Amino acid sequence: MWEIEISKEKCIGCEECVGSCPAGVLELVDGKAEAVEPDECLGCETCMSVCEAEAITVTEI
Ligand code: SF4
Ligand code: SF4
Repeated sequence: MWEIEISKEKCIGCEECVGSCPAGVLELVDGKAEAVEPDECLGCETCMSVCEAEAITVTEI
């Protein structure tokens, strides 16, 4: 299991993470990224890599 934390303060709504997630975990909701399907997360950390705002942290739980 993976926990995806997204800082609403840091997120600029660029959608880079949404488009890059291979598992369809992330969506933009009210202009901010949210993990809408967290159980599908593969822990690949691609979203962390593409987020220039450094708003995402993925940790194994
Ligand atoms: S890549 Fe980062 S800044 Fe862009 S929408 Fe995702 S969390 Fe927000
Ligand atoms: S770690 Fe990978 S699978 Fe999980 S939300 Fe980020 S891009 Fe998607």
